[in-house]
Amino acid sequence: MERKITVSDIRQAAQEAYNEAKEVKGGSNANYIPYLANIDPTLFGLSVTLTDGTTFNFGDTDYKFGIESVSKVPTAILAMKQHTPEGVLKRIGADATGLPFNSIFAILLENDHPSTPLVNAGAIAACSMIAPQGASDDKWIAIVDNIRDLCGSAPELIDELYESETATNFNNRAISWLLKNYGRIYDDVDMSLDLYTRQCSLGITSSQLAVMGATIANKGLNPVTVKQVFDPEISAKITTMIASVGFYQHSGDWLYTSGIPAKTGVGGGVMGVMPGLFGIAAFSPPLDDAGNSVKAQTAIKLFMRKLDLGIFNGDNVDIVS
Ligand code: GLU
Repeated sequence: MERKITVSDIRQAAQEAYNEAKEVKGGSNANYIPYLANIDPTLFGLSVTLTDGTTFNFGDTDYKFGIESVSKVPTAILAMKQHTPEGVLKRIGADATGLPFNSIFAILLENDHPSTPLVNAGAIAACSMIAPQGASDDKWIAIVDNIRDLCGSAPELIDELYESETATNFNNRAISWLLKNYGRIYDDVDMSLDLYTRQCSLGITSSQLAVMGATIANKGLNPVTVKQVFDPEISAKITTMIASVGFYQHSGDWLYTSGIPAKTGVGGGVMGVMPGLFGIAAFSPPLDDAGNSVKAQTAIKLFMRKLDLGIFNGDNVDIVS
């Protein structure tokens, strides 16, 4: 069905979704990373960026929170830019694990590949693939520059979060060395893990993440800076990965109930991608049992429902002024 939605409908849906989700209680901050446990749990922001660059922000959309696992998306894009989508498929994979983000069991079950760059094992492998090989500083610059290009402005390392994660990332150390055991890490092990830990510790705002989502939705053309950040063919590949594993073991439930591919992080951020239409991002620290922000999930679902949107609805939607 052909449908037209006005920019003002979108603005109103975002405002209402924000107001309603703000009242939602429940969840608690991530407690296994000390820095995250102490973030103000009342912070809440919702941002939407359309593929023409129009942006709506409600609440704490300038607050820099830990990007955490949402960082897996830009680094997967960078790995695809440098090694092609087929190269990433071959060396990492594109399959959902159906298991928690930090599962060691998933590696043992699928010892031929770590499944997807959007779980911890695959994300550490993706960091190991980033060029130039063996050069930590240059790899880091490539990772950060790519995030800056996708968001239209630079992320900033939260030193305290980086220290906090480095001091407590024992499970990720086990993952990294197990990957090494299976020959699935493509650079120095400790360096690859450090890059992953550092990228998770970048501070980002919901407003920046909405632009990243819009850039993916817009086939790699950042609608705010008008820079082509990646080849259009990568857009469908990364959106497929987000749809299949963005919410880890709850990805099916999420897509079924929300209608939008989205990626979560334990810092409380969620970034959604509606191909051709918009990027959306919400942030609120308290998480549910699976590690996904309670208010951010609610806000995005409400927004989608109010506009009767869904990636599989079969509608040909046009946003008009
Ligand atoms: N840095 C976190 C970890 O590796 C990220 C987890 C997440 O956001 O899902 O445990």
